[in-house]
Amino acid sequence: MPELPEVETIKNELPPYIVGRCITSVTLLWDGVVRQPSVEEFYSRLIGQRITEVARRGKYLILGLTSNEVLIIHLKMSGSLLLEPASAESNKFTRAILHLDKETHLHFRDPRKLGVMWLVEDKNTIVGKLGPEPLEADFTPQLLLERLNNRTAPIKALLCDQTFIAGIGNMYADEALFAARIHPLRSGKSLSRGEVERLHDSIRQILSSAISNKGASVDTYFRPDGTLGTAHFEFKVAHYLSGRLCPVCRTPIERIPIRNRGSYFCPKCQVE
Ligand SMILES: [Zn+2]
Repeated sequence: MPELPEVETIKNELPPYIVGRCITSVTLLWDGVVRQPSVEEFYSRLIGQRITEVARRGKYLILGLTSNEVLIIHLKMSGSLLLEPASAESNKFTRAILHLDKETHLHFRDPRKLGVMWLVEDKNTIVGKLGPEPLEADFTPQLLLERLNNRTAPIKALLCDQTFIAGIGNMYADEALFAARIHPLRSGKSLSRGEVERLHDSIRQILSSAISNKGASVDTYFRPDGTLGTAHFEFKVAHYLSGRLCPVCRTPIERIPIRNRGSYFCPKCQVE
């Protein structure tokens, strides 16, 4: 699933091709991709608008429009946004196409049909409840410590809870906990100040490094130009490395289910 580094990469790479461009037409190949408003209103309110900016909040991509409305996109498990020449045809996974002037179209491709778009006046109706952004200056070790106070849930579940911290999912939570040498089943409140500082540092380093590598293409994630990110080459434990040995101590990486998602960790380096 695309997480913060993948959505940030899309946010960084789209603007030269879409900011300032006019949406001349919209094609929906699957109406279910529009969550809000109605499909009819989606067409009528979007066509003719210019895209003013591209922003990100958590795993949501936010396109600003001249009407001051925003088009919010969540790629969910398998979505990608691809820049295509106007002559390019849709394929069986294309769910929506924004036709832009200047011969570039934006294709929303999504094999599993879980991705969603909203066209709203106030972005906070969609992203208002998200937790802090882990790469912003106000996300300090002290803030993380305060948010973990009294939390009995496993730290892995908390890191994946978008209201606790925004943008982290299964892959980067496993990587951050491995780097911080914290077992994924530890309760939030059990972490010492030193462990919280280590975790804070690991989260930032792993996300920043993944952004430098343009995201992780472990399944269906593509950059807007259709190329792959390379962040997964730096993964130490995340899911596609099942059966490998810990790169630090050579113990086999183990997998346990936490909240229905597989969590990968080293039982020796990450003690309970
Ligand atoms: Zn180990």
